Amino acid sequence: MMFNLAPSFIPLTGEDRRFPVRRIYCVGRNYLDHIREMGGDEREPPFFFQKPADALVLDGACVPYPSATEDFQHEVELVLAIGTRGRNIETGDAARFVCAVGVGIDLTRRDLQLKARDRGRPWEPGKSFDHSAVCSELLPWAAPHLPEHGLIELSVNDEVRQTADLGQLIWSCAEIVSQLSRQYLLMPGDLIYTGTPAGVGALRPGDQVVAEAQQIGSVRISIGEPAAG
Ligand code: MN
Repeated sequence: MMFNLAPSFIPLTGEDRRFPVRRIYCVGRNYLDHIREMGGDEREPPFFFQKPADALVLDGACVPYPSATEDFQHEVELVLAIGTRGRNIETGDAARFVCAVGVGIDLTRRDLQLKARDRGRPWEPGKSFDHSAVCSELLPWAAPHLPEHGLIELSVNDEVRQTADLGQLIWSCAEIVSQLSRQYLLMPGDLIYTGTPAGVGALRPGDQVVAEAQQIGSVRISIGEPAAG
């Protein structure tokens, strides 16, 4: 019998240490143009869901096309890495709890997500499956403010599919950290995916996918055939 109990680690740019992943939190909706393309309430406060830590996928990986879907989609997102324990964090204090930033892809089985949404069920089958949390190397972050501007982009086979500026986030990075910390005790090792802009779309086996956040980092994956075993 084989067990894979190795925790997930992410390289930190320019450092020998790696970031040990504890939990992966994601924001449901955080760019107006994506809410409009999906159909939703534009004034709702942010809501959060989780992916399992072992769903993490790092740069250069081949992600097998997942089971149980016919609409496997990409969502490029800025990722915040928590380095300090915190609860009920004030927005103005949020940067102190973030030790690194990166860019990620919230891979989504859109057909399962929408079916769950329409039936009032949890999003889990659409969001929290194997290999669903792609993340770049993390850039250590010690600035007094979290990223507020900068291009974030995703391309498939060299064609740009998603492009936006972080300034278009409805809830800023600091507001997300603050709001999440009122629902959960944030701990070192937690990742927060901050939501995707418009342009989400389907992926197929053979696709080459690149996500990039200007001056932060990039991550490249390929999509493979469905796993046989
Ligand atoms: Mn997302």
